[in-house]
Amino acid sequence: MFRTSVLSFMLLFGASTYGAEAGDDTALQERLQAHITFLADDLLRGRQPGTEGYDIAANYVASQFRQMGLRPAGTDGSYFQQVPMRRAWLNDGSAKLELLRDGQVRSFRFVEEFYRSPSLAHVNSELQAGMVFAGYGIDAPLLEYNDFDGLDVEGKVVVVLRGQPLDFPSEEGAHFSSGREVLKNLVSRGAIGVIMIHTPRTEQKFAWSRVESLVGMPSMGWLDEQGQVFAGFEQILGGAMIHSPAAAALFEGAELQLAELLARDEAGEPLPGFELPGEIRMGQSSRHESISSPNVAAYLPGGDPLLNSEFLVYMAHLDHIGELHGEGHGDVINNGALDNASGISVMLETARLFTEREAPRRSVLFLAVTAEEKGLVGSEYFAQNPTIPREQLAGVVNLDMPLLLYDFGDVIAFGAEHSTIGDAVQQAADREGVALTPDPFPEQNIFVRSDHYRFVQQGVPAVFLVTGTSSADGTTDTKAIFEGFLKDHYHTPSDDLNLPINYRAAARFTRVNFGIGDIIANQLERPRWREGDFFGDTFGR
Ligand SMILES: [Zn+2]
Repeated sequence: MFRTSVLSFMLLFGASTYGAEAGDDTALQERLQAHITFLADDLLRGRQPGTEGYDIAANYVASQFRQMGLRPAGTDGSYFQQVPMRRAWLNDGSAKLELLRDGQVRSFRFVEEFYRSPSLAHVNSELQAGMVFAGYGIDAPLLEYNDFDGLDVEGKVVVVLRGQPLDFPSEEGAHFSSGREVLKNLVSRGAIGVIMIHTPRTEQKFAWSRVESLVGMPSMGWLDEQGQVFAGFEQILGGAMIHSPAAAALFEGAELQLAELLARDEAGEPLPGFELPGEIRMGQSSRHESISSPNVAAYLPGGDPLLNSEFLVYMAHLDHIGELHGEGHGDVINNGALDNASGISVMLETARLFTEREAPRRSVLFLAVTAEEKGLVGSEYFAQNPTIPREQLAGVVNLDMPLLLYDFGDVIAFGAEHSTIGDAVQQAADREGVALTPDPFPEQNIFVRSDHYRFVQQGVPAVFLVTGTSSADGTTDTKAIFEGFLKDHYHTPSDDLNLPINYRAAARFTRVNFGIGDIIANQLERPRWREGDFFGDTFGR
């Protein structure tokens, strides 16, 4: 799952459901274990895009596709779609953030007080400019909300709180408050820099103490036909995330202090915009490299000549975050056993279940994508450069980090309420005797935070399927397991094969996942957005 979308799941205890006993699925369990064991091995060194470890994983997936008799759906008759990317590394010690006021210079300390990622747009950049506070940096006409009303930010560094107003509908809000939308707003108004304040509300989703683990990790972006990084925002010469205790200094002498703004943020009260006294100076230097990393794609042709030009898409990200840098770590390899070797394994065995039966009416595409952890990069490249015409993509089921650690009693399908795919998920869950739980974490905006969202942005309905938080027997303390994973193992070297992966649960999850596609690929009506749905209305065509 995407790094900036760290979740601190709160558990809800839904009614547990006892499922119908599956037949003997030992062979399925063994195969799932085989995939995860291969993909999460130390030899692959955390499957970072652009490394041998990732490429070996990609070859493994292609080889499995071929073994199952699936047809290539990459480019040039291959299983691969190479994604051209820029990889950027921040030069050690180059990140600078200084406040200039009343003849004094206050330097903020990198990582302890502020953080910035490597710049994909600039090898070197430096700026000095005045500052404007602009709420959350959101302009959402649909919600009759605009943080820029009456503000002139041209040539300025815009200071914003990370996040969104408390009363925003969560998914729409997540769209409007995403880094990309905020940067678009700044660029269109002529701003040249941005400082995002990591608030106490942000802290609940992603603890500042985890920022340190990002140091030494590269940024990646895909290149368009002109060789430019897509959504690279070259006009923005400086950017930083600042921890709120340090950010208070930016507001000294201003008409409102940060503490007051944070209190309003917590209380859901409106935030005014205003100029801040003094100037900010920012600088950085980054190293750029050109790399390519493959998406892996294959398909099963549908059996109905009237429907088989339409494709149901299963997808999962194959990459993970590589190795830790710096001193003092024991195990440095982030194996990503559950993030997302598990999702890939379930997708592979879902494909096998399809190949063992009569072909469905529609065709089914299986897509393993690269660089999810770098900002949904491989999926966006595919969604914008599909190897199958976009209008033939009927719907998406995405698998990312299913927690296969206990016999689950329910599944969650983020996005189920947005399209008729939700009906298929309900039927598939019923078939397998598990409950379908409505999104229990609306405040986490998970629907906009994994690969399927890049397809949603191209108008394709999608769901993101994960195991739920109730146990099948109703007695297991899943809360401890679930929260323990997110706290202790998520994006750390201990998301590895030492976890007690429950392959019985993995097999069951695979059957639910298969059921969704089996229903969608065989029903007469193509999936569609619900009437009046925000995402359908915004992106649908
Ligand atoms: Zn992840």
